[in-house]
Amino acid sequence: MSCPGRRCGARGTPFLTLEVDVSSSSEAVCCPHCSHPLSAFRLPDNSGWQEEFHLACFNDQCPYYRRGWDLMWERYEVKASYRYRLDPATGVASPLAVWSPDAIKDRIIDGELTRDVESTGDHEGE
Ligand SMILES: [Zn+2]
Repeated sequence: MSCPGRRCGARGTPFLTLEVDVSSSSEAVCCPHCSHPLSAFRLPDNSGWQEEFHLACFNDQCPYYRRGWDLMWERYEVKASYRYRLDPATGVASPLAVWSPDAIKDRIIDGELTRDVESTGDHEGE
């Protein structure tokens, strides 16, 4: 198989290196709990993650998310929940803690996940 653009040339392309190993197709990645397509969101600066974004299910009807409210309340007496989150670099899923239904939603990256993102040069150097 010739490479259709996966590792051709530019390393460190901004955004979307969507290499999640999801049934080897280029379809949208969906939440296993509700089948809602996952959305990309920007990670907080100090999150400790290397990636610039992760994927998460922002469906408010998602059973995983809805159950989270009860569980968190019962266990920790906090009004919080979590959403299904997927690390696009590793394909590893983990809970994304949210404190309100709108939490993190302002970080969602709009639009289709394409590689053609205009990089606004906000590349912070360390
Ligand atoms: Zn879901």
